Amino acid sequence: MQQLAREVIGGKNISFDEALKLIKTGDDDTINLLAAAQEIVRHFKGKKVKLCSIINAKSGRCSENCSFCAQSAHHQTSCQVYPLMSDKEMLSAAQTAEKQMGSTCFSLVTSGKTVHTDQELITIGRTLAGIAQTTKMNRCVSLGTLSQSQIEQLKAAGLTRIHHNLETAESFFPKMCTTHSYAERVATIKAAKAAGVSVCSGGIFGLGESLEQRVELALALRALEVVSVPINILNPVAGTPAGKHHPPITPWEVLRLIATYRFVLPRQDIGVFGGREKALGTLQPLMFTAGANVTLVGNYLTTRGQAAEQDQQMIRDLGLEIDARVH
Ligand code: SF4
Repeated sequence: MQQLAREVIGGKNISFDEALKLIKTGDDDTINLLAAAQEIVRHFKGKKVKLCSIINAKSGRCSENCSFCAQSAHHQTSCQVYPLMSDKEMLSAAQTAEKQMGSTCFSLVTSGKTVHTDQELITIGRTLAGIAQTTKMNRCVSLGTLSQSQIEQLKAAGLTRIHHNLETAESFFPKMCTTHSYAERVATIKAAKAAGVSVCSGGIFGLGESLEQRVELALALRALEVVSVPINILNPVAGTPAGKHHPPITPWEVLRLIATYRFVLPRQDIGVFGGREKALGTLQPLMFTAGANVTLVGNYLTTRGQAAEQDQQMIRDLGLEIDARVH
């Protein structure tokens, strides 16, 4: 593992088989895997940890049937339902994220397959312009499927990044969602790149996908040259189909996943976002040893996160620093 880490630092792209061997490391050897992944993350990212924040700017009643999602109209959940917030509300949340949580990236996230009206796009554009004028943060959106011209419109308003998860491996995608395709997700990522906007894309794990499929997704993200990769772990919401039939992913399994992603995606930002508190439990700080260099502070879309101060303390206790740079 140490030898492979040195080769990765030297520029090697590891193969599917090499990544699969890493993700299949036994519990007794997992600490060695984490130590090797740590060499890679320290080489490329130093001791800096970036903080991101999001706002659930429009919630519920989504036409899509993603198996994990509390906001799908196909599932009976108790998630909040509300239309797009006003630009003032979204801007105020962004300013709070910068001032009180130290976030350097803020994402406006909406439920639904796409942006449904021109008015919504205009409101989001006005919010991005406000964030650009009043904060130093990266401006990101997660709005579902978008065309290149919609992305260009938002870029002109101040957008710097698109978040659009592939969610899971192509070979598992139809088991996660049948109302839209993996190809549609790839198309939005390509449209963002064509519009000159950087892409943050990752997935959610613990849906019943195999270890091979976790590696398949990592290699797909590498091929798409995304700059940032969020890892979410299923935190099953009552009423959603996901999580009903699968044992929860264990802390060691999550850490092996993060470490393998660091080997496959050595230069990318890797964040551990939704579900980390529950999935990692007392081992949560080890996500930064395993290769993460980003985390999300504040609340998630439909579940609460731990307090931002607790995250900041965890980072300091590890001898790491919060990255105040915006890049
Ligand atoms: S993940 Fe997005 S597209 Fe899928 S059901 Fe939830 S809100 Fe809709």
